[in-house]
Amino acid sequence: MLGGRKGILFVISGPSGVGKGTLKDRLLARQEGIEYSISATTRPMRDGEINGVHYFFLAKPEFERMIASGDFLEWAVVYDNYYGTPRRFVLDNLNQGKDVLLEIDIQGARQIRERYPEGVFIFIAPPSLTELAKRLELRGKDSPEVIRQRLSHYDEEMAEIVNYDYAVINDDLEYTTLKLSAIITAERCKVVRFIRRDEIGTAFDQQTDEGK
Ligand code: ADP
Ligand code: 5GP
Repeated sequence: MLGGRKGILFVISGPSGVGKGTLKDRLLARQEGIEYSISATTRPMRDGEINGVHYFFLAKPEFERMIASGDFLEWAVVYDNYYGTPRRFVLDNLNQGKDVLLEIDIQGARQIRERYPEGVFIFIAPPSLTELAKRLELRGKDSPEVIRQRLSHYDEEMAEIVNYDYAVINDDLEYTTLKLSAIITAERCKVVRFIRRDEIGTAFDQQTDEGK
């Protein structure tokens, strides 16, 4: 029974500017055995971003072609741009027993949860709306109009917390990283994770086969 385990899918969501990207980098630097899934997007590249590192930056027709071919595990329109999780990378890693981390919006997380409830869903919340606005401004990568648009989704996004397994307030950066790291470690120790791969829910695999 204690055999090769299937990888665990960790999903992180939260309002824009809450610190997801920062936390993800810190987490990956200190947790072994977790692969980050690089998303595809049609949004313009920000200063300092690298294609294939931060995102796969695609033109709209290309993204739409990939939707039509079933190449995304989930996709959504977020703040007027397409964002999506490439299917193959995630499934290959999970099937090889590697854990995978997704950093996606609440619509995408909802899609994943419907198809793969054994994933671990973590919501990152800001200490307050004022602090969130401050972080978006300090980051200095988005125009005031884009920041306004992102903040306008705050209440709607925060209302989604109830659909997550964990809620983590990103106040002190080091403490928050520690909390996320603890969640990953605890999830890996769950007895259910050691049950043979073929005994674990196969909903995702079935859905994958159909979607290929
Ligand atoms: P997201 O990926 O959620 O949009 P970022 O990781 O880009 O957010 O973080 C937004 C800004 O907030 C960045 O300038 C980052 O350095 C800062 N930040 C992240 N976490 C904290 C924290 N705990 N305290 C203060 N500032 C933070
Ligand atoms: P940003 O443009 O700031 O990088 O990201 C904007 C929002 O898109 C964030 O909430 C982020 O979590 C979300 N996002 C990034 N990648 C994906 C993805 O692959 N799918 C979905 N649904 N959302 C994503």
